[in-house]
Amino acid sequence: MENSRTGPVAAVIALADRFGRVATDLRVSLTDRCNLRCTYCMPAEGLAWMPQPEQLTDDEVIRLVRIAVERLGVTGVRFTGGEPLIRRGLVGIVAATAGLRPRPRMSVTTNGIGLERLAGPLREAGLDRVNVSLDTLDPARFRSLTRRDRHADVLRGLRAAAEAGLTPVKINTVLMRGVNDDEAAPLLRFALEHGYQLRFIEQMPLDAQHQWDRHTMVTADEILAALKPFDLCPDVVSRGTAPAETWLVPGFVDAAGAPARVGVIGSVTRPFCGDCDRTRLTADGQVRNCLFATEESDLRKLLRDGAPDVEIAESWRVAMSGKRAGHGIDDPAFLQPARPMSAIGG
Ligand code: SAM
Repeated sequence: MENSRTGPVAAVIALADRFGRVATDLRVSLTDRCNLRCTYCMPAEGLAWMPQPEQLTDDEVIRLVRIAVERLGVTGVRFTGGEPLIRRGLVGIVAATAGLRPRPRMSVTTNGIGLERLAGPLREAGLDRVNVSLDTLDPARFRSLTRRDRHADVLRGLRAAAEAGLTPVKINTVLMRGVNDDEAAPLLRFALEHGYQLRFIEQMPLDAQHQWDRHTMVTADEILAALKPFDLCPDVVSRGTAPAETWLVPGFVDAAGAPARVGVIGSVTRPFCGDCDRTRLTADGQVRNCLFATEESDLRKLLRDGAPDVEIAESWRVAMSGKRAGHGIDDPAFLQPARPMSAIGG
């Protein structure tokens, strides 16, 4: 069989590991930079950003995504960061990814700033969906949590995403004790009223400041207790490899008229490593087989040394085969990875 762009169609050999998991969901970080300074993510002054020459070019990103789709069986691609909307080439990267066969599902995780302008072009380029991060409904609280006065931009971004058809629009929320843990119910009400799908994420030990504390994190159980007034019902749809456990919210429908849902990602207290189907690529071309991996595999060097696709694919496969059984946060020997969340790609 021939593929007009690349010649003979490559055989797909999946990204399998020793525990029988197969990675089909690729998270691509497009930059480590961000235009917010969320207190739980990075310090006020920001971080030592990746030097530009170390960052993959748009063409390099597109080549690696193509290899993942054509040779490694990747079926879903999520662009993240840092803040992916500040990457100039984002729309072109999405368009090139949409042109791959088989065409992968595509989403972007963003803080929503700039989405008002970019939602239409991203949709036209072929993007399917967005996840927008929003931790509070209160503009003053947003300002102190993110150290930027951009709450209204995020709300406009959400609206634009829904209007452009980047649906279901999902909202990611991290609750923190004494900061915004009183907002679980108001945030869900807001999401239901607007037809957005809300997912709470347990805070993980991935902050640049290393201030995460298990004893103060808001747990999945606490989040569900705060949502008691909604009388949530266990979801009828199986979770599969999705990180979020979902619940139905009786009496509400989503923007498509389906029963409304809310998700909780209990990464710490309800780990789902046994079902993980993720492989990660950092903005400087390193493969990570887990958010919490302490080792990476350098695909950028292979790319820049002129390695053929088949060699890059094999190196990616080897990197994934060594994936550990679990993230090990509960292990007394647990070590937080050197890269913070913003440089890995959340
Ligand atoms: N800038 C984009 C955004 O805001 O969505 C993408 C990157 S951001 C790192 C992705 C998600 O990770 C956000 O929803 C953010 O709230 C979440 N996040 C950041 N640090 C986290 C942590 N330590 N634990 C859990 N989630 C975290």
